[in-house]
Amino acid sequence: MSSEFELIARYFARPAGNAELGVGDDCALLRPTPGALLAVSTDMLVAGRHFFADADPARLGHKALAVNLSDLAAMGATPRWALLALALPAVDEAWLADFSRGFHALGERFGISLVGGDTTRGPLNLCVTVLGEIAARPLRRDAARLGDEIWVSGELGGAALGLAHLRGECRLGEPEAAACLARLHAPEPRVALGRRLAGLPRVAAIDISDGLLADLGHMLERSALGAELELARLPAPPALRRDDALARHCLLAGGDDYELCFTAPAGDHAAVLAAGDAAGVPVSCVGRVVAGRNLRVLDAGGAVLAIKARGYDHFID
Ligand code: ADP
Ligand code: MG
Repeated sequence: MSSEFELIARYFARPAGNAELGVGDDCALLRPTPGALLAVSTDMLVAGRHFFADADPARLGHKALAVNLSDLAAMGATPRWALLALALPAVDEAWLADFSRGFHALGERFGISLVGGDTTRGPLNLCVTVLGEIAARPLRRDAARLGDEIWVSGELGGAALGLAHLRGECRLGEPEAAACLARLHAPEPRVALGRRLAGLPRVAAIDISDGLLADLGHMLERSALGAELELARLPAPPALRRDDALARHCLLAGGDDYELCFTAPAGDHAAVLAAGDAAGVPVSCVGRVVAGRNLRVLDAGGAVLAIKARGYDHFID
């Protein structure tokens, strides 16, 4: 049986990378780029709440880091360092090997170094902290203004449809199921897009973790404005290109997509499209910011849809 320190050394300690000093001392030592803003965020994944306890560990390692990188993306930050606090019910070396492989593989792709953390025994719980740097303009939630266009990256609703498929609430064909489950289990943080958007004059952004209406709602709240969205313009994966209650739910209130929702002045329309092109991610203009505090969704005929659930809230069932 390995000790805590052997486990850390085997699965988590890596060369310090871009850190002055990484895993192994009382603190990591980091040297931020002079003049850059430091962006810091933390996200906790709890078994039974955010994932199934028997979830594939490599994908879990990916997802635990991906959801944090998505927060950096939504701020326009470049990922630099991460910390990982783990509670494990027992030492399962096969699980740790797969989990750490998924975690490090994604980290290496984004040039992020794991510089520290904590490992204890307890109910399975993963807490990742990320640090990134912003040289340009941070994508603050309160930066939306009247008349701005509202955009989303990629496609919406795939992760929620994958979850509905797992729960037996719908039946997907093989290729569609695989695509939606990949969205659910292995989200791709939109880091390159966030960095490009931070180069534009004024962009407000949030990442979509709890559903478009809920997360756009947070941005509008901070900006003290309302919005009109056009349902027909929401980018959907092939499996969702139909008009029924499940499709609407997944598009408007489905969580876990980790796409970016952002606003920009209409005069920057072409620059936003160019940012999407340069980042290799499609971006779709889906509505506009309006006066007042209401978030309205219009159907193809321009009628206002009645919306029940806005999205996921941990304290409201
Ligand atoms: P301390 O007793 O000072 O909290 P620990 O024994 O918890 O130190 O950790 C020893 C070293 O290993 C520290 O540098 C810590 O940051 C690092 N560490 C512990 N757990 C992890 C982990 N899961 N991933 C990365 N680094 C870790
Ligand atoms: Mg400790």
